[in-house]
Amino acid sequence: MREIDLRSDTVTKPTEEMRKAIAGAEVGDDVYSEDPTVNRLQKMAAEMLGHEAGLYVPSGTMGNQVAINVHTDPGDEVILEEKSHIYNYEMGIISAASGAMPRPLSSDRGLLDSERVREEIRPDVEYLSDTTLLAVENTHNNQGGRVYCPSEIRPLIDLASEEGLSIHLDGARVFNAAVAQDLSPEALTGDFDSVMFCLSKGLGAPVGSVLVGDKFFIEEARVARKRFGGGLRQVGILAAAGVYALENHVERLDEDHRNAARLAEGLERLGFAINPNPVESNIFFVRTDPLNQDALELADSLESKGIRLGARDSSLIRIVTHLDISTDDVDYVLEVLKQQLK
Ligand SMILES: *Cc1c(COP(=O)(O)O)cnc(C)c1O
Repeated sequence: MREIDLRSDTVTKPTEEMRKAIAGAEVGDDVYSEDPTVNRLQKMAAEMLGHEAGLYVPSGTMGNQVAINVHTDPGDEVILEEKSHIYNYEMGIISAASGAMPRPLSSDRGLLDSERVREEIRPDVEYLSDTTLLAVENTHNNQGGRVYCPSEIRPLIDLASEEGLSIHLDGARVFNAAVAQDLSPEALTGDFDSVMFCLSKGLGAPVGSVLVGDKFFIEEARVARKRFGGGLRQVGILAAAGVYALENHVERLDEDHRNAARLAEGLERLGFAINPNPVESNIFFVRTDPLNQDALELADSLESKGIRLGARDSSLIRIVTHLDISTDDVDYVLEVLKQQLK
């Protein structure tokens, strides 16, 4: 049976060509920094994102949390957006492992307002905690893959530098953000103190993320990674998939964006409500209540036809397009839904 998995871009499977790159990878012990493929990946990622150095990490969560660990001391406050991945989906590691306090702020469309942030920075008084870090997410997962442009991010970068805060980018899908705006990724990442991006999402690698920053930051991050249990050995075998992905799977993200837009437009024609509308990258949300459809039941019934959707509750579904979804798959999903709704 045809399999169309729209739950997440983490479900991609390595292509034949990627598997060849994996099989042929040169390796060494990365705890000694002697894995040539890991070193190549780290250098490549740092260059693409406008930073001095990079560090390969097993997951995006570890990348974000290692960065937070380096940027903060126990008791410090980290300002972030209330729907951010770091605040909602990283199990409180920020407090459990770094002893830092998240200070979530609301926003209109996922990007914090710099003047609002300025008001929340704690004054330098002995009985208050220190605000030391500001975190940004681009694209914003839980805001439906929203994309922010350099001029929107600029005030936050300037604020951080004026107020002496570090600023970290959770750029799990920052290559989607760059491709969606036809920008070099560096334009969205170069001015952050640290950036994490995932190889394991739309870029199609089976595992891994990379953290980038200046040399001094990455030296400290390497120590923190080891402390988090993320010291890696002959992992060039996995980094090779990352190198392959950066060389071959960045520009094609545009196809995922076009497929997401096509699917969203089709769903809207069928009567569903789409958010954001228009779609900005490879993620969007669908509301099923305008059609009086229960989202969980709808997802269940499509599963028997090989179509998997990420229903969040009885009226909300998250849809994500990726490397393993073709335009033909999109048209098939729309056709099946059309029949189903009759
Ligand atoms: C997926 C994701 C992460 C975490 O990556 P994992 O590899 O799943 O730990 C972090 N931030 C955002 C925005 C994500 O979408």
